[in-house]
Amino acid sequence: MARHTDPVCRLCRREGMKLFLKGDRCFSAKCSQEKRSYPPGQHGQRRSKPSEYGLQLREKQKMKRIYGVLETQFRTYFKMAARQKGITGENLVRLLEQRLDNVVHRLGLAASRAQARVLVRHGHFHVNGRRVTISSALLRAGDTVEVAQKSREMIEIVAAIEGAKKRRVPSWLELDAANFKGTVRTLPSKDEMAIPVQEQLVVALYSK
Ligand code: SF4
Repeated sequence: MARHTDPVCRLCRREGMKLFLKGDRCFSAKCSQEKRSYPPGQHGQRRSKPSEYGLQLREKQKMKRIYGVLETQFRTYFKMAARQKGITGENLVRLLEQRLDNVVHRLGLAASRAQARVLVRHGHFHVNGRRVTISSALLRAGDTVEVAQKSREMIEIVAAIEGAKKRRVPSWLELDAANFKGTVRTLPSKDEMAIPVQEQLVVALYSK
């Protein structure tokens, strides 16, 4: 399976903003984007005015990187979003939010989406009572996600839940931390999906 192998902090520096890809480290003084807030590479500190295409490309890359999705899969989500009723940009973000790895991370059951992906792949989560190992599985309103009984003492999961107590679970999700369980109350509205990306630029890029 294709995957991203570059150091992830370079991705934040390339986009010029914190994308929160590394769990607790992102909230600490070790964050590379805070220490070196310029793009990586030999010409990283050069200033140039981006073209319209450049701006659209950067927004698309940001969105892909936040959710850890590669190009082919991202295009598939775009096509699905374009076929749905409503605003394509919003539909696109909503589809990405519905991914199982995202829901696990948003609930605070994993420190980052990358960690959630690995934990899901290794069979540590059940959806509606059944073991699911596909991190891209799309959840619907009413679905429940639960840590498998045998995995409830795993250091990664216990630490993630502990760390998540400092953060807020989005209102479209409900966490029952005592039972290692979360529920998708409803699909997220536009306000609840606030990510630092101008999705209309992504739509413009793919609509050419
Ligand atoms: Fe990005 Fe987190 Fe690395 Fe900071 S620590 S640069 S937010 S991935």
